[in-house]
Amino acid sequence: MISIDQLLSEMTLEEKIGQLNLITVDQAVTGSVGSDDMIANIRAGRIGGVFNVWGREKITRLQKLAVEETRLGLPLLFGMDVLHGQQTIFPVPLAEASAFDADLWERTARAAACEAAADGIDLTFAPMLDVARDPRWGRMVESPGEDPRVGAAFAAAKVRGFQSARLSARDAIGATAKHFCAYGAALAGRDYAAADVSDRALHEIYLPPFHAALREGCVAVMAAYPSVAGIPMAANRELLNGYLRQKLGFAGVIMSDYGAVAELIQHGVAGDIVEAAALALTAGVDMDMVSGAYVSALPEALARGLVEERQIDEAARRVLRLKRDLGLLDDPFRRVAVADAPLERFKGLALDAARRSITLLTNSGVLPLSAGVRRIALIGPLADAAGEMQGPWSLAASGESNVSIREGLAAALPDCEIVFSPGVEIEGEDADGIEEACRRCAGADLILLCLGESGRMSGEAASRAAPVLPGRQAALARAVLALGPPVVVVLFSGRPLALPWLFESAQAVVAAWFPGSMAGTAIADILTGRFNPSARLPVTWPREIGQIPIFYAERPSGRPAEPENLFTSKYLDVTNEPQFPFGHGLSYGAVELTHLRASAETFTIERELTLAVEIDATNRGGRAIEAPLFLFIHDVVASVARPLIELKTWRKARLEAGETQTIVFSLSLEDFSFPGPRLTPCCEPGVFEILVGESADRRRLLSIFVQAKQPDAPRST
Ligand code: BGC
Repeated sequence: MISIDQLLSEMTLEEKIGQLNLITVDQAVTGSVGSDDMIANIRAGRIGGVFNVWGREKITRLQKLAVEETRLGLPLLFGMDVLHGQQTIFPVPLAEASAFDADLWERTARAAACEAAADGIDLTFAPMLDVARDPRWGRMVESPGEDPRVGAAFAAAKVRGFQSARLSARDAIGATAKHFCAYGAALAGRDYAAADVSDRALHEIYLPPFHAALREGCVAVMAAYPSVAGIPMAANRELLNGYLRQKLGFAGVIMSDYGAVAELIQHGVAGDIVEAAALALTAGVDMDMVSGAYVSALPEALARGLVEERQIDEAARRVLRLKRDLGLLDDPFRRVAVADAPLERFKGLALDAARRSITLLTNSGVLPLSAGVRRIALIGPLADAAGEMQGPWSLAASGESNVSIREGLAAALPDCEIVFSPGVEIEGEDADGIEEACRRCAGADLILLCLGESGRMSGEAASRAAPVLPGRQAALARAVLALGPPVVVVLFSGRPLALPWLFESAQAVVAAWFPGSMAGTAIADILTGRFNPSARLPVTWPREIGQIPIFYAERPSGRPAEPENLFTSKYLDVTNEPQFPFGHGLSYGAVELTHLRASAETFTIERELTLAVEIDATNRGGRAIEAPLFLFIHDVVASVARPLIELKTWRKARLEAGETQTIVFSLSLEDFSFPGPRLTPCCEPGVFEILVGESADRRRLLSIFVQAKQPDAPRST
């Protein structure tokens, strides 16, 4: 096979720049990539990759153009936002994070890769790894939640799943870790807004998931839209070239986000498109997504001396290397050549993933449904909304074959009478249907109220200043709650919704998030108890909007909140307590934890450190239970104020009724370390508190103390 160096030596400047140009079909058709139409651009070698086009026929047609009609026959790279499934839709990432199950995360990514590859896709723009602590930000739904350790485990599992053991395998696709970095810190949760975060916050919070993705061999990184500490990420030389490439040794492709290179002008760091293109390239952005800045302006930037041809060569080399590693230089049609996976193939996995992602938030005892329930009033705009079950970023799936709650419930409870009324629309001000909905509740043993956001109300460009029930759904809920029969709420959303009144008055609330293709079946399995809920919140659930941003790993205040003391860190009008802490979630039954212990009370700070921590877990309920147990650490005195508690690891306890097991955690030096005063990892001597329990609610955690010591100084002889 021809070497990449040789290829590069045969390419014209225009062809090299063409490899850096990533377009979508719409953009190409409107001609905004700088020439008449996509066909002409592909033929001229001005396009390196196309994204969000899928399907064997389309991809084959475009690839043929590139391979057969360009001067060098270089294949296109086909990218796509495969966030949580291609044809079979798995729960949205925030929901899937709730499963705290790396094996599941990997399996669903593997399945998504198989289906996407069969649709001709080479590279997914996933996993999305932005630590998200502000439910106003719509993109929380795409993220694994608020915790860097969860984000890191999620990152590694997803990269393994997408890329498989061999990237050139026909059913493997490349992964793109996005959005690098700190997008989750966008001001006030407003999408695309600036992220003014400290270096410490970057290193403690926002970077760890990216480290994990790169350690796993992730082949691409997407730069985020916002500016970070004043420098837009598409021009952030320090973080892209400096940190990613030089410090971490990342050799893969860095791409901009959609249009972000040209947007450097609006950011106010580039005077024109030529400067924008030059800034992005010199910062380390190899591929320009959609803005057309590279094709239209890099030649001029070269002429002005703003970039060197060597930099263009380097970027083109990385793109070609990626194409080679994906097997495209050998066989450009390798992925479309895979036979269609039958749609049924991953249904079982979609059901399993959905059941493991649905979180039981409150339960007065009304769930699981008893055999005495003969008539259910199924109320609410999401009760029979198959298309809404998949949430945002499910571009290839029509949603028609999704199982709605109405269908899932009817199949699970054939002897139960189910009467249905939507009551109101998801959005919109019409409340006329509320009366009819209430009428339909007459004689019901139970009301199942299905409320929340539509799929398009979270995701990109879906920030909400008030993450509560949209439209007239609150009015519907209040009317139904006043009727008398027990009310179970199934809540759909891409973020926690601040609804203290609902949690107080409903007999049970289930956070379904957006469960995907098998939603209705999974929800019915949870409600009937056929599946014992095991999901736990990967984000802190606020009680009031004014508490946002809210997350468990807060740094201490010199004045911790005290009820009797006014001059402490609290609100006059609202408690500091969230509605539900990180890690919260109920099962049917309860686990009792006792006897937390460590393998040593003292340890020496050394690279090889392993400390075993054990706890006994007993299932006090009458049915098998699966529950993640979380281990947190608090560094009591350190040179930098450490968070009150920080998650280090978790284990799933799988217990039969009445069973007791010893759960073992293993801690390493890294778990006791933090970015020191100069941001390099350090472990300082002193006391550490180790806390284990079922959520981040400190009052319910068991805790012990261990002491870290400096190694003895070597004796001089
Ligand atoms: C989003 C990215 C996405 C890209 C391509 C952008 O607007 O921020 O997450 O990968 O579009 O669809």
